[in-house]
Formats: sequence, structure tokens, C-alpha cells
Amino acid sequence: MNEKNSSPNNEEFRDHLATVTEEGKRIWIYPKKPKGKFHRFRVVAAIILLAVLFFVPFIKVNGHPFMLLDILNRKFILFGIAFGPHDFHLFVLSIIGLIISIFLFTVVYGRIFCGWICPQTIFMEMVFRKVEYLIEGDANKQRALNKAPWDAAKLFKKISKHIIFFILAFAIANALLAWVIGVDALGELISKPIPEVFGRFMAMMIFTAVTYFMGAYFREQVCTMICPYGRLQGVMLDPDSIVIHYDNKRGEPRGKIRKDVEQNNGDCIDCHLCVDVCPTGIDIRNGTQLECVNCTACIDACDEVMTKVKRPIGLIRYASKNEIETGVRKVFTPKAIGYTVVLFLLFSLIAYLLTTRSDFELSIVRTAGLLAQEQPDNKISNLYDVKIINKTFNTVPTTLELNNMKGEIKVVAGDLTLRPQEVSEGKFFVILPQDKVTKLNTPIEVAVKANGKTIDVIKTSFLGKIKGRKLNSEN
Ligand code: SF4
Ligand code: SF4
Repeated sequence: MNEKNSSPNNEEFRDHLATVTEEGKRIWIYPKKPKGKFHRFRVVAAIILLAVLFFVPFIKVNGHPFMLLDILNRKFILFGIAFGPHDFHLFVLSIIGLIISIFLFTVVYGRIFCGWICPQTIFMEMVFRKVEYLIEGDANKQRALNKAPWDAAKLFKKISKHIIFFILAFAIANALLAWVIGVDALGELISKPIPEVFGRFMAMMIFTAVTYFMGAYFREQVCTMICPYGRLQGVMLDPDSIVIHYDNKRGEPRGKIRKDVEQNNGDCIDCHLCVDVCPTGIDIRNGTQLECVNCTACIDACDEVMTKVKRPIGLIRYASKNEIETGVRKVFTPKAIGYTVVLFLLFSLIAYLLTTRSDFELSIVRTAGLLAQEQPDNKISNLYDVKIINKTFNTVPTTLELNNMKGEIKVVAGDLTLRPQEVSEGKFFVILPQDKVTKLNTPIEVAVKANGKTIDVIKTSFLGKIKGRKLNSEN
């Protein structure tokens, strides 16, 4: 596979994808089954991440999901805290923080995300590919099976593989959907007749179809052709970024071991195993390439070869271009420090906003355009608008009380029983004795109480009578 890529000085491989012929046809990749130290770590990481994907939607706190990413209704629950459209500023800041942290990680550690965390890599390499190895065998057997005539054994293997792929895609799609709509809504979707839950059913089928297509057919093309993160590598990586690198100084000139002749070769014995295991079909010995998803399969393969030929491991390893050239590892470059500072400031701001975020957001303002009104018993009133955002999951009955003076509050419009995650609006009169209102603007404080506890005190002003001027008059 990809023999033409193997020359160290031939840059021709950069002109085309390793998985596409000159005629534009797909070259199907049969990567050899990976094994080794890094692969074992990746399996552990994948198991943890898959457990998070499948089990976290079932965790509830006080009857509500621990995590929910309801993009359609703009409702998010992160670690048991509900965020709604009213928290949009936090959402925007978090997304910016996430993008910058991906940039930072890429600048310093290359595409570590692709190899260890990306859902596509995990589903492909740790789920679909594992099933394929189990049913069809390693790369050579898969190749032979695809060339073989369609007999009963081949039909059985192919059909059973695709049935399992579909079941896996269905399970993954359900897990993803559970993160978006919650496990309760997912339970309804499964138990109710399709016409009653048609929208959600279609979402589930689309998720399933896309996951199946990516796992069974599209595979590495997602990384090499579609993924925008992969395309951005050229901008983000610099010569100090730590990526999976072939140590050409140590490896070249490459050559097969021959016992009959004296050799002056480097450590690469040109066994091609690092290419054979590559799920994107590239030859890492050509240098850093956009197609490399940092899956570490070539490190494991080469380490095994080096061990067998009794040479030091690490001919292919995590290293920067500069490290390979100079032998010095520099992690904290000025660029990386700059990103870290920005990231620190941004996350400090998000942490501050999160820790000072209250369960309710209130505003009380005097109704615009209205003056004071005369009331019986020598009293006057002002009309106010109240708006309360309830960010909690609970229904909260509220009351209003004057805090800094004696007087009366009369709610005349709206319902101040706050519904979960909703905005309640109302109007109320503050009625004060005339003798308490000695100025044009009297500062007042309105306490908003929920279940007898003050949740906030809003300062506003009470408009009094102007001497010689009639109340409720425009003149
Ligand atoms: S696995 Fe190692 S020794 Fe074999 S071709 Fe690749 S770099 Fe050379
Ligand atoms: S070059 Fe190595 S790390 Fe990169 S995708 Fe191929 S096998 Fe994985």
C-alpha cells in the first residue's frame, strides 16, 4: 500500500490523498490490526469516554438530568446547573473558551484531540473496526474476503457485520439523542407509537443513518476530507508542536537488513509496518501530514519492530519538528504562552460569572409614562413593572414587600408564581401615605420573597407630587 509515498525526498504525495486514485476513485484502506502500549492506553481512554456517552444521560440530580444539551430549545444542564436562553452570554464565552483551548492544545500538542477524544476516531477505531476484525479478521483476511466470490460464508460474514454495525449505530444515535432530549423523552420515543413522536423518531433515524454511514463506509474520509479541524492544522501547527513524528535523522537512510552485505543504514528497516497499520493510509516517514489523526498505531508498530531488531524504540514518537532536528524539546513557546494567558483570563471570567450567577434574575421599573396617582385615605401610588426569570427547575411562588418604609404593594396584573425556567411578568402598585412622600423622587426598596426567603432587593424610586401640579396630569 502506498509504495510510491515511501521516498524521503519525494514530495509528490502532498498533491493527492492517499485514499484516492488519480482517476478519483476511492482506495479502500485495510489497516493492520493495531497493538501495543499506546493502543492499550487508547482502549482504556475509549472505554471511559464511551461509558460517559452511554451512562451520563441516566444520571439525575433531584429528578433532573445531570447533563443535557438541548440545542433545539436552547436549554442546557451542565453538572446539574440549568442554563437557558437567559444565559446566552455564558454559552458564547464557553464556546470561545472551548475554541481557544482546542487551538492551544493543537499549537502545543498537535492533534491529540483527534487520536484520543474525537468521537469519530473512537467510534471508527474502537467500535466499528474492532467488530470488523472480529468477524472478518486482520487486514490480509479482509482483503482476501472482499476479493472472494459471494459464497455462503462471505454472505454470512458481510450480513452479520452490517447488522451489528447498524445495531451499534442505533445505540450510538440513541445515546447522542439522550444527551440532547434527555432519557425520559428518549423513553417516550421508544414506547410511544411513531406518529405521536414523529419528529424525534426522524431525528433518531437520521442520527443512526449518519453514524452507520460513517462507520461502515465513509470512515477515514471524514477526517481527511470533511473535518474542518483537520483542515486547520496547517494554520495551527508550528515547528514546536508535538505531533507524531518519524525521526528521519535516526531512521535514514532506510533499508532492509541484509546479513550478507555490510550496511551503513539508519534505524528504519523499511518494513512498511507503520504504513500498513495507518487507518488513513499515509506514510508518516514523509513527515507531518494533514491526514494523520495521531492515532499512535504507527508508534506501536515501529516500537515492536525496533524491539525485534534490538534497536531503541521511539523511531516514530510524539515529538516536534524542532526536537527531531535539534534534540531539544520546547513546549512553552511564546505562541503557546500567549494562548494560555488568553485562555486563563477567559476561564477566570467564566468561573466568576458561574459562581456569581443567581437562580433568579429580577427587574422592577416604574411603568413608563405614568405619574403618581391619588388614592383614598390621603395616599398616593406609583405603578411598576416586574420581570422575574426563574432559572431553577422548581415552581416558586413569590411575594413583594416594601423594605425600607411602611406602605402597601398591590399586584394588579400577571402571576408571580414563577414556573421553572420561565420568565414571569406583572404589574403592581406601591401605595404610600402622602406624608411619607416629601420629595419628587423618594428612594424605595422592594424585597422579592420566595417561600418566605428574600431572593433579592431591588432599589427604585417613587414619584411624588410636585407642588402646585395636579397628579396624573400631563400639564
Ligand atoms: S515501522 Fe519503523 S522500521 Fe518499519 S518502516 Fe516504519 S519506521 Fe521503518
Ligand atoms: S501516521 Fe501514524 S498516527 Fe498518523 S494516522 Fe497514520 S498510523 Fe495514525
